[in-house]
Amino acid sequence: MTFEQVNLSTGPVNISNEVRAALAAPTISHRSSHFQQLLDDTVSSLCSLLSVQHTFIMSGSGTLANEVMLHQIKTLGSKGLILSNGEFGSRLIHQAERIGIHFTTYTQAWGTHFELREIENRLSEGNIGWILFCHCETSTGMMNNLNTIAEICSKYQVQCFVDCMSSVGTMALDLSKVTMATASSGKGLGAFPGLALLFSNISPLSNPQIPVFLDLANYAVKKNIPFTISSNLVNALHTAIVQKQTIAHTDMIHHYSRKYYDIMYQHALIPCSDQHSKVFTVVLPDKMKPVFVDYMQEKNIILSYESEYLVKRNWVQLAVLGYYQEEQLHYAANVLEQCMDRIHS
Ligand SMILES: *Cc1c(COP(=O)(O)O)cnc(C)c1O
Repeated sequence: MTFEQVNLSTGPVNISNEVRAALAAPTISHRSSHFQQLLDDTVSSLCSLLSVQHTFIMSGSGTLANEVMLHQIKTLGSKGLILSNGEFGSRLIHQAERIGIHFTTYTQAWGTHFELREIENRLSEGNIGWILFCHCETSTGMMNNLNTIAEICSKYQVQCFVDCMSSVGTMALDLSKVTMATASSGKGLGAFPGLALLFSNISPLSNPQIPVFLDLANYAVKKNIPFTISSNLVNALHTAIVQKQTIAHTDMIHHYSRKYYDIMYQHALIPCSDQHSKVFTVVLPDKMKPVFVDYMQEKNIILSYESEYLVKRNWVQLAVLGYYQEEQLHYAANVLEQCMDRIHS
């Protein structure tokens, strides 16, 4: 084996040697023209990867990107609709409440799809100006129907905002029909955590009431660099995008994640997760969870099970969000199959 472990956690994700080396390169000033060039290059690769007009890169985790997006939403002034069918949908609702945004909700039980008819009914009433939801609901591994919801929005001239935290970088994605979307450096793009990403097809709205750090218009005015930002993190992100965002790597990730899906689906272990998802939430009978977790750990495969909401439900997650060598993913498929035999023996 030429690798020590396979990181199939939801983050921090598997990171390549090249991206590690990019992080370790000497730090350069965020005021230098060299850094401005690096940032501009990173922004343009993300804009073309996702078919969006603007990309903003900020210091922070994904939650910060959502916070910045929510302040833009608040500035619209209209009433909106937030959809939730899991932990991350409910976090959006909680954040929106704290910011004092005017909205109603459409919540479904965790792991239950939204009824598109219901969404259409709500929007057709005419008093909703925007909608916000998670594309991949990371807590359950369920994919919400981004393209169809975006189409319904355009039919009723409603602005569409999406948290794409665990879908960006893991699959071909066209965000040209949404108003804004968010992601982070530390999930599907396969870089280090620490950069919050916001994609937009409109110019940022200006509002003096927004805290300065969260004011997207200020980022636009200051050519994307209003404050200190780590050149190491941006360099690592840029390297990760160039290395990972190829058709060959995306196809490979899809091939193996589909394989993991089939193996676990056969054993009825992933009741909510979608076959296109790159995050799978494994629901096992109580006494089987330690067997699963210990076996995978013994074989040096890293999973996620320590988040508060996972502990509470006794769930385990397996995700394919990082950068991998094919032999790593191939090895993990074999281990997963052996693990199923162990569980059912
Ligand atoms: C991870 C995640 C977040 C939060 O990201 P942090 O980087 O932990 O702040 C928000 N939404 C979704 C869907 C996520 O998967």
